[in-house]
Amino acid sequence: MPISLRVFGAPGRYLQGPGAVEAMGEYLARLGSGAALVADRVVLERFGERILSACAAAGVRCERCEFSGEIVPDEIERLVALVQPLNVDFVIGCGGGKGIDAGKGVAHRLGRRVVTIPTAASNDAPTSKNYVLYDHAHRLLRVEHMPANPEIVVVDTRLIVTAPVHMFTAGIGDAVAKKFEVAQCVAAGGPNMFGAHACAAATALAELCYETLRAHAVQALADVRAQRVSEAVERVVEATVLHSGLGFESGGLSISHAMTRGLSAVRGARDALHGHQVAYALLVQLALEARSDAFIDDLRRFYRAVELPASLRELGMDRPSDDELRLIAEGTMTAPHVRNFQRPLSAPDIAAAMRRIEALSPITA
Ligand SMILES: [Zn+2]
Repeated sequence: MPISLRVFGAPGRYLQGPGAVEAMGEYLARLGSGAALVADRVVLERFGERILSACAAAGVRCERCEFSGEIVPDEIERLVALVQPLNVDFVIGCGGGKGIDAGKGVAHRLGRRVVTIPTAASNDAPTSKNYVLYDHAHRLLRVEHMPANPEIVVVDTRLIVTAPVHMFTAGIGDAVAKKFEVAQCVAAGGPNMFGAHACAAATALAELCYETLRAHAVQALADVRAQRVSEAVERVVEATVLHSGLGFESGGLSISHAMTRGLSAVRGARDALHGHQVAYALLVQLALEARSDAFIDDLRRFYRAVELPASLRELGMDRPSDDELRLIAEGTMTAPHVRNFQRPLSAPDIAAAMRRIEALSPITA
């Protein structure tokens, strides 16, 4: 009998709150005295000065390294060539998603530790060891894994509430699925992102994530719209960044994330944010789980309140043809997470579940 190992991974430190950037210096200084800040031009213009002065105040010399915005292998190589002669102790990746991944890529290539500073709470990447590389045609090339999670994650909510509102709702969409994906992955005996079984702690985080969103997301969204840092915002940001990130990495993924492969290949839906694709795909996963219309409608009412897409049309794909549904379903079947489900699935199963969601009557306010 093989030993079934349970693995739980996490960043070394997680800092969250208004002014977390100003407070991060003493934590960063423990990693060394030299750093490279990898971020695109807009992020450097908006936040570069704040980050650099927080570093300087803690005695950390920090150099700006401007990232083009395209996370392709040759851009990582260009950044590595820029950072290598600086002889830094660690790399700071800052941005909405790609800036963080660029920082991870550079740190990984140079064998350095990484600090992440998300400028939006739009996805589950800041705490994870994964990063994604694309080709020049914006197609997913591969998912890379750093040997360890980011050393420090700095989530400054004063900065998060200035990001576009749809980035905040995307983070909610990415997070809301985790409870259901972890449950399916665990029940199927599937692997988490460490190729191991999940600790019960990962399941508990995914459940806490869901409960937090259902209790506080509506208020948090209203506060973010007013660019106001509130208790609801803090609770929801913790859910969308910390619980969601640890939940998927240590718990595992299932259909909702597998479907992003298919959805990224079709018109309209391909332009939607990752978290919005995941939110729609969760409804399809629940249909595959044979949940009642009442259960699905309860979630759809929540989606309406927090502006998440509940159909392909709302995701940007009006009147999908049978061929397009088949294309999404076949793309979904190529993702390894599709096996983390209570029963083996086929492309026609997925297409049928999408048809059920499309046929539901609209939710009225
Ligand atoms: Zn995700």
